[in-house]
Amino acid sequence: MAQLIFMSFQSLGLTDALLKAVSQQGYTEPSPIQQKAIPVILEGKDVLASAQTGTGKTAGFTLPLLQILSQREKSKYRPIRALILTPTRELAAQVYDNVRSYSEFTDLRSVVIFGGVNQKPQVAAIRRGVDVLVATPGRLLDLQNQGVLSLKRIEILVLDEADRMLDMGFLRDIERIMDLMPKKRQNLLFSATFSKDIRKLANGILHHPVTVEATPENTTVEAINQKVYRVAKGKKTGLIIKLISDGNWKQVLVFTRTKHGANKLCKKMISAGVSAAAIHGNKSQGARTKALAGFKSGRVRVLVATDIAARGLDIPLLPHVINFELPNISEDYVHRIGRTGRAGASGEAISLVSADETTYLRDIEKLVGERIPVSIIEGFEPDPNASTQPIKKQQRGQNRSSRNNSNASKNSNNKPKNNSRRSRGNRR
Ligand code: AMP
Repeated sequence: MAQLIFMSFQSLGLTDALLKAVSQQGYTEPSPIQQKAIPVILEGKDVLASAQTGTGKTAGFTLPLLQILSQREKSKYRPIRALILTPTRELAAQVYDNVRSYSEFTDLRSVVIFGGVNQKPQVAAIRRGVDVLVATPGRLLDLQNQGVLSLKRIEILVLDEADRMLDMGFLRDIERIMDLMPKKRQNLLFSATFSKDIRKLANGILHHPVTVEATPENTTVEAINQKVYRVAKGKKTGLIIKLISDGNWKQVLVFTRTKHGANKLCKKMISAGVSAAAIHGNKSQGARTKALAGFKSGRVRVLVATDIAARGLDIPLLPHVINFELPNISEDYVHRIGRTGRAGASGEAISLVSADETTYLRDIEKLVGERIPVSIIEGFEPDPNASTQPIKKQQRGQNRSSRNNSNASKNSNNKPKNNSRRSRGNRR
């Protein structure tokens, strides 16, 4: 991980229990976002942080949060004192793993709750007493409505990947959650991008925040070898299988725009003898966890994912990312290719672009500030007669039903298929 100047975790003022956990993880130096965020959070200030996944942001907010809680007096009833909100189940599970590792040598207790799985074990865990709760908004509101948990004693709130929460239509849920917490608390907002909506949200939540930034995005993009293959739409599947087989690539993350597209491509890969799994919002939690575990262990060569499902996944040292289709939201391109070259390793990002994606490619090039080199592979040429009319865009947050009280409690049953994500009607 890139460093600003040499700095140790000790010099950030962390306690021995946390330093021991950090060294057990094998981290030798704090990442830039950790160097900047940890001291400010320890001072009790509100923070507005610009950081993508892969920058070490999770430790950046978790370590000081644990330190603050462990140094304050505990009540014997163990009310929830810190809440970390994440947009997706996978991210919640990942953040929770981090919280558990970093708190190993403290006496703090943590629990994770998210939809799509039976709520009973989550309820039982909460009843045993929790200091740090990691949650997705839907399940949190469901359990709050059932009277399983109270947010009245929250001292620290973290909104992780706040931009993605807004993209997923969680604004109303976030506002309702704010109303359930005491006004006086420390707030930490982490976001990869700073749109007008994020600034508005930040203004409403944060008090005199200190702004901290990780390495600028374009540095990350520059470290990645980006390529475009112009190809006829109908020849993309053949081309992707050729690239993976010829290159003998062992671990490839492929992005499609829709859930249906992810399933279709996955099936075709498997028929062609390439082991693949799909991960998207319509898959059960169990299926997603299994697909991710298979990919991480190397059993599954290709993971086909939609943007939202892939968001926040921690897959270290990923050599190849392929955009089977370009995203219609240019920022998603940066998130997607940021999957390569993580924690200092370099990577290759390939986009298969058909005529109808020409406008998206131009928008992306504008955002990253460079022309991406284009090649054509023999036998997989673009169709000269195809229309360059763009595929219809879907706006983020469109078609999403916002939850109300009665909905929230309806969604609180134990059937995984009936969870809030499904009712949001997104295509990802
Ligand atoms: P994050 O951005 O929080 O998703 O973290 C990305 C990856 O970086 C995770 O695998 C962390 O375990 C790892 N990481 C976090 N902090 C450090 C550090 N100081 N040195 C090395 N790796 C780190």
